[in-house]
Amino acid sequence: MKYIGPHVSASGGVENAPLNAKAVDASAFALFTKNQRQWVSPPLTAKSMEQFKANCAEAGISPDHILPHDSYLINLGQPDDALIGKSRNAFFDEMKRCEQLGLKMLNFHPGSHLNQISLDQCLNRIAESINLALERTEGVTAVIENTAGQGSNVGFSFEHIAIIIDKVEDKSRVGVCIDTCHTYSAGYDLKTEEGYRDTWAEFDRTIGSHYLKAIHLNDTKKELASRVDRHESIGKGLLGMPFFERFMQDPRFDNMPLILETPDESLWTEEIQLLKGLQK
Ligand SMILES: [Zn+2]
Ligand SMILES: [Zn+2]
Repeated sequence: MKYIGPHVSASGGVENAPLNAKAVDASAFALFTKNQRQWVSPPLTAKSMEQFKANCAEAGISPDHILPHDSYLINLGQPDDALIGKSRNAFFDEMKRCEQLGLKMLNFHPGSHLNQISLDQCLNRIAESINLALERTEGVTAVIENTAGQGSNVGFSFEHIAIIIDKVEDKSRVGVCIDTCHTYSAGYDLKTEEGYRDTWAEFDRTIGSHYLKAIHLNDTKKELASRVDRHESIGKGLLGMPFFERFMQDPRFDNMPLILETPDESLWTEEIQLLKGLQK
């Protein structure tokens, strides 16, 4: 079975996120557990944690299908020794929040070398950051998202992700989220039937399909290998409906959160229905 839903707002408190998901008839969702534009947010209250769990149950959404996303400020590959601690502490805090909410995963963008260190040095720092966070937390899997490769972001190649995972000590608590828009922008041709087959085969060969924990299901405004990250509503971009039909009929993506990060939230209910309809 497929579980689909958008990245919903948690404005007014994390406990509102499952209600926002329910309102669009979602069976999965993503959220920020703190303000994503600030380094520090007040700790979650006991009441907020309890209400979050109750509202998830009320919405009929299991923690298996909830994919929190970390703050955009965090750079786990930060080249500067004086600055990396700030990112690592913020990431640890986010892992802890997930733990408190009974969640099982934290999705994050691997990081950026900022043209100050080599790709390999950056990947090493990211793996070290993950190791530090896993040592200090329990039960939450660090889920690395592939990027479009904009600017100095690493993680646009499956090989980058494989190198990071190779250096993570506890392999039972590391996973991957594939963003379909980023994948195409990074140069993997998911659009054609042949490209679709080859891309997932390459994922399996390079990273290993058992590491796949979640999908960001987005269409894209930008051409193949553009290295530019611009999401588009389902079926309205360059990936197009044949891709989404192929994807929704592919059992490899059952039982994991399929998250919409599509730009027009007035279409979310419709997009979820459209995707569900493609399963037949
Ligand atoms: Zn994404
Ligand atoms: Zn994106």
